Amino acid sequence: MKEGWLMIPCRTANRLVSEGMDRPLGLGDRARLRLHLAMCVMCSRVERQMDFLRQAMRHIGDG
Ligand SMILES: [Zn+2]
Repeated sequence: MKEGWLMIPCRTANRLVSEGMDRPLGLGDRARLRLHLAMCVMCSRVERQMDFLRQAMRHIGDG
């Protein structure tokens, strides 16, 4: 996949996923991440796992 302003490499997508857990992403970053996740099975899997972990942590925090 060619690298460009819209097509981000997997390492950037992974960075954005973890950054998005700490702080809200900018509109551009969010759009690029969404686009990447829509096309990349591996990264969308990573994002789901991160999401699951985040919810699990929140659940522990509630209890
Ligand atoms: Zn990817």
